[in-house]
Amino acid sequence: MPLTPVAELQKQMRERIARCRRLPESETVAVARAVGRVLAQDVLAPACLPHADLSAMDGYALPEAAAAGSVWKVAGESAAGHPFTGSLNEGECIRIMTGAVVPPCCRTVLVQEHTEYADGCITLTHGVAGRANIRYRGEEIAAGSRVLNKGRIVREADVLLLAALGLGEVAVYRKIKVAVLSTGDELCEVGTPAPSEGCIYDSNRPMLMARLAQFPIEIVDLKQVPDNLEDVLHVLDDAAQNHDAVITSGGVSVGDYDYMREAVIRLGAIHHYQVAMKPGKPFVFGQMLQAWYFGLPGNPISGFVGFDVFLKNALWQLCGAEELPEPLRFTATLACDVRKSGGRTEFQRALIRMDEAGNWLAEPCGAQDSHRIYGISRANAYLILPADSPSLPAGSRVTVQPFDGAFL
Ligand code: AMP
Ligand code: MG
Repeated sequence: MPLTPVAELQKQMRERIARCRRLPESETVAVARAVGRVLAQDVLAPACLPHADLSAMDGYALPEAAAAGSVWKVAGESAAGHPFTGSLNEGECIRIMTGAVVPPCCRTVLVQEHTEYADGCITLTHGVAGRANIRYRGEEIAAGSRVLNKGRIVREADVLLLAALGLGEVAVYRKIKVAVLSTGDELCEVGTPAPSEGCIYDSNRPMLMARLAQFPIEIVDLKQVPDNLEDVLHVLDDAAQNHDAVITSGGVSVGDYDYMREAVIRLGAIHHYQVAMKPGKPFVFGQMLQAWYFGLPGNPISGFVGFDVFLKNALWQLCGAEELPEPLRFTATLACDVRKSGGRTEFQRALIRMDEAGNWLAEPCGAQDSHRIYGISRANAYLILPADSPSLPAGSRVTVQPFDGAFL
């Protein structure tokens, strides 16, 4: 069977999930707790922003444009939270502060630094045009306009927007429930004494749970399942009945003890197997009962990369997101030769850095075998080589994708 190209599988998964997903129910949360949740409502501005004509500067509000040298009597004050309510006579202005309401009798604001003050009057050291230094009512947001769409993953800056509009709460989708388990008779649990010969610590499950913690997901740890079909069937059957998605590590290859595919077929369907990607060729996407199934290979790097390339956006979709995150990618220059084998898109683990001239340089971070966990820990980006790319000499232009959090 030919391997599916990465972009094609991403598209197939996105379309199938969009077609078949059941959106979670919604709940209301305080805006300060909405970051990283998915909006279950459009947000319409209940009022306009700014809500009134406001001064952008500390200075003086004048009824009209005025020339350098003109003198104005200061007849009152408008401070933030304390608007001026009087009226002005000929030749009068008011003192005004940043964020204070510009009263209807004033048309322009002059910055304090362009005046000299003496005996209750100001003399202009610079002229001021009409309509200067005023933030007009509604100039940024009109009342009733839609400022955020249903399905948006709420960002930190959105909290400023929601709160500035006076909104204390928003409707978001409830957290979905996702089960995580590892397979492999060789696995032992972290935090226990050093593994005996033939055993290794289960590093994938903690990695997956750590990465899931960034999502609006209730993570259910189903621990480790031994390599036999009966146990795998039993655990997956249970997991499929009680979760929105099940993520497994290991057991999806063609080894004698790889039972995951067999079990998923018995409980549901596999929509997709094998993808033209390195690392991470054996990746299973399917459904069991009402749960989505994602089967990552056991090699730690394959699972890590598969999570970035396929699971992230699939999970966001299941959480209700419509605007899916686009990974940041840009072009860098290879600082050394790079070897590429044929036929599959490679996600090499790389170090990228900017040289003094402002150019991004990239080089693979050590050997690229899919068990090398020290290399991925030291890397800060993927170096993405398209399936049809040959090996490349130093100086070639390549696509890189920084790791989440690598440049904090
Ligand atoms: P599998 O996909 O089950 O054939 O496993 C492939 C390789 O990944 C084997 O060397 C396993 O020992 C290793 N492996 C499988 N599961 C894990 C895990 N949870 N943590 C670390 N390594 C694993
Ligand atoms: Mg295994």
